Amino acid sequence: MQITLSNTEEKIIATIAKAAQQMQMPAFLIGGFVRDKILGRPTKDADIVCLGDGIKLAHAVAELFQPKPNVAYFKNFGTAQIKLPLPDGSFFEVEFVGARKESYTEQSRKPKVMAGTLAEDQLRRDFTINAMGISLNADDYGMLLDPFTGIHDLKAKIIQTPLDPLQTFSDDPLRMMRAIRFATQLNFSIAPKTFDAIQQDAHRIKIVSQERITDEFNKILLATKPGIGLEMLSKSGLLSIIFPQMMALHGVENIDGMGHKDNFYHTLQVIDNIAEVTDDLWLRWAALLHDIGKPATKRFEPGHGFTFHGHEVVGARMVPKIFAQFKLPLNEKMRQIKKLVELHLRPISLTKENITDSAIRRLLFDAGNDIDALMLLCNADITSKNKQKVQRYLQNFEMVKERMKEVEEKDHLRNWQPPLSGEDIMRIFGLPPGRKVGMIKDAIREAILDGVIPNTYQAAYAFMLQKAASLNLQPI
Ligand code: ATP
Ligand code: MG
Repeated sequence: MQITLSNTEEKIIATIAKAAQQMQMPAFLIGGFVRDKILGRPTKDADIVCLGDGIKLAHAVAELFQPKPNVAYFKNFGTAQIKLPLPDGSFFEVEFVGARKESYTEQSRKPKVMAGTLAEDQLRRDFTINAMGISLNADDYGMLLDPFTGIHDLKAKIIQTPLDPLQTFSDDPLRMMRAIRFATQLNFSIAPKTFDAIQQDAHRIKIVSQERITDEFNKILLATKPGIGLEMLSKSGLLSIIFPQMMALHGVENIDGMGHKDNFYHTLQVIDNIAEVTDDLWLRWAALLHDIGKPATKRFEPGHGFTFHGHEVVGARMVPKIFAQFKLPLNEKMRQIKKLVELHLRPISLTKENITDSAIRRLLFDAGNDIDALMLLCNADITSKNKQKVQRYLQNFEMVKERMKEVEEKDHLRNWQPPLSGEDIMRIFGLPPGRKVGMIKDAIREAILDGVIPNTYQAAYAFMLQKAASLNLQPI
């Protein structure tokens, strides 16, 4: 089989083969590594399947490396893993497992597992392109073992199951998500019979743990064109089950000749746009969620058309619940996305009015550290079939960015800290914590943002004395 390996990969594979031959245990490269090497994609891991005890083979392989890597193994699963250092400081992970056959029950993903032949092991794999093996044995080293003509499907760019798809998906419904994930990552199509089976079996995704679903979903979001995968999730019926709030973005309505754009396809476009400029998963989530509040806020105003007033606020409020639903961490990233959703109209709305310094200052102040992310999101949000309109928006948008730079250079509002803190105010006037401290603090902030005073300690101090005097307060 003609595949191109790096020198390091070559050496690692040859060493594994040597250990297997010493132990007289037939071993094969299998799955993703074989697929990706034939496609010429970079890889950071390889799976080895052997006819015998995978843990024993892993130990024998570890013996041949200097320094000897640690063998992490899971007796219950009969799997073992070693990590080999690469020249760039990262690791190449090799996973070992004995060939097995499995039988599943209707209710659960947990199969009954028994030792099996290579062919039986290949049969339980998810897709033909993931079921190819390469022999590491002396008599046929390097031979491609491909019982389901995965190589043909790789060339034809097709995802299909080795068995009847209904059987394969019934054994493990997560494979439905994986089909769409691989199709998205590799830019392949899903064979009609396989896709029909997903549509038929979509409801069974319910028995799969949310963590596994989220894992595949995130991989779809991280693809070059996530929109393709999200569209397939929608068409397959899976999206209705795993993410009904997103399905609710579908649809156009028309009253008295006034319509609105399809928010689902708009959202896909925004994700694809942002995917062109960032690999950050969380920014892609922000793009996914930016209009999530639209269905709940849609109104028709006679004579005016459809409106989605307040959708950014409603949408922001939906973020924590969606994160909890996906079992994503409820941390700083979640709060960032919430903020981005809430602010996503601000830079665009600036382009419509006169762009005052004060409006720019307020935007910089409200966005804080997230201003760059917000600008990426807003730029991606400019979608329209009307090319001239897009061009006009983009030009205005560039102007806002210019003005932001000017104001930022002048006023340094990013990471703005008030020149006088609440504690300063309490100390200066001998005040206990309370309403008056807050009033003075707010007044200083507003004066700075409105450009009444510059963003300096001295100006803020003078302004504070004035404001305090109006409240009958004197410094102590
Ligand atoms: P990637 O590492 O990019 O996710 P991969 O193909 O290596 O791609 P893994 O999840 O690492 O995917 O799985 C390795 C191999 O194990 C697959 O190529 C496939 O043969 C098999 N496999 C993994 N998960 C399943 C599953 N749910 N059902 C059947 N086979 C699976
Ligand atoms: Mg893998």
